[in-house]
Amino acid sequence: MAKALVVGGGVIGLLTARLLGEQGYQVELVERGSLACEASWAGGGIVSPLYPWRYSEAVGALAGWSQGYYPALGDKLRRGTGIDPEVRCTGLYWLDLEDEDKALDWAAALGKEMLRVDRQKVMSRIPVLGGRFARALYMPDLANVRNPRLLQALQGALQVDHNISLVSGMSVDRLLVERGRVVGAKTSSGTVTADCVVLAAGAWSGELLQTLGLNLPVEPVKGQMILYKQEPDFLSAMVLAKGRYAIPRKDGHILVGSTLEHVGFDKTPTDEALASLKASAEELLPGLADAPIVGHWAGLRPGSPEGVPFIGEVPEYPGLWLNCGHYRNGLVLAPASCELLKNLMLGEEPIVDPTPYSPAGRLGWRPIA
Ligand SMILES: Cc1cc2nc3c(=O)[nH]c(=O)nc-3n(C[C@H](O)[C@H](O)[C@H](O)COP(=O)(O)OP(=O)(O)OC[C@H]3O[C@@H](n4cnc5c(N)ncnc54)[C@H](O)[C@@H]3O)c2cc1C
Repeated sequence: MAKALVVGGGVIGLLTARLLGEQGYQVELVERGSLACEASWAGGGIVSPLYPWRYSEAVGALAGWSQGYYPALGDKLRRGTGIDPEVRCTGLYWLDLEDEDKALDWAAALGKEMLRVDRQKVMSRIPVLGGRFARALYMPDLANVRNPRLLQALQGALQVDHNISLVSGMSVDRLLVERGRVVGAKTSSGTVTADCVVLAAGAWSGELLQTLGLNLPVEPVKGQMILYKQEPDFLSAMVLAKGRYAIPRKDGHILVGSTLEHVGFDKTPTDEALASLKASAEELLPGLADAPIVGHWAGLRPGSPEGVPFIGEVPEYPGLWLNCGHYRNGLVLAPASCELLKNLMLGEEPIVDPTPYSPAGRLGWRPIA
């Protein structure tokens, strides 16, 4: 039985482990902190890029595949573990977009339902909206997933899979190379050998590749979020204006995000972001002015050029596979990214053309002495 070492216990590492375990791999997933506590927990869980028409086809192809798959994934996990990831199709309203025509052209070209809705109709459907907008576009089919629950359900599913071992509190410090091939890693608790290593370490993925002389252009991009609690029927759809969004959960929690900050690996929540998010929340949904903020946190997105993730084997080091750099879209892209990686590892027909995600030619390399 082939053994895979998966580095990182976020949504990408957990889903990768699940798919490889199902294929009969013996999988050891190593997480430096606690499982599922970094970006994958901190994110909003919109099952779409925020402005999908502004992304390349490479991001669109993975997003489209995942969107089709999410409801089945949610059901399967709920039935298998009793934990409901709450994949809910609430739809999303964009208010006062400056590139409406581009958005509509994009939707028409892909046969997706996107509607112009006049202001009055939006207000009648979502009376809690602040009235300071003139126009809206609406996609009824867009969903959100309650990502902390998704991660709990995934962990629950993996814990009962005998092919998989989940190890937390152990860091992978260096990759092991023998005769040019990656054969495992040195960890904080000793050596782990494996037939292949999958790097799914989110914003930290570049650190490990540096030890091999590889320069992975993945950088942390901090995002802060605030959380409100309202009655369950307060807000019926996701809304987005001026780059800020509100996401309703089934039980009345409402997430408002997010900031985009290039401040290295610091993920301390700040008062400045709190005030700015609160102002956006109250402009979008004035009723939130009287509601208590019940949570405020930050996470580090794995920023990559154009937000196109790295998925595939590293040509300079056979045995080393990447699944990282999902930037703002790792939750929506996760199912497709992990399926594609599995396709490539097993030599299966890939679900989408793998070329744009290939690490080949996208990493700087200097041989190490
Ligand atoms: C505020 C915010 C809002 C977001 N909203 C959305 C959204 O609505 N929709 C969407 O699709 N995406 C969203 N995202 C983006 C999404 O959360 C990320 O793209 C995704 O979670 C990345 O997943 P990951 O598994 O690669 O990284 P992570 O979840 O960060 O997991 C990486 C893991 O690797 C571990 N690790 C790192 N180095 C090592 C090592 N050396 N050894 C062992 N373990 C290691 C880390 O501890 C971490 O647990 C948002 C992100 C943020 C911050």
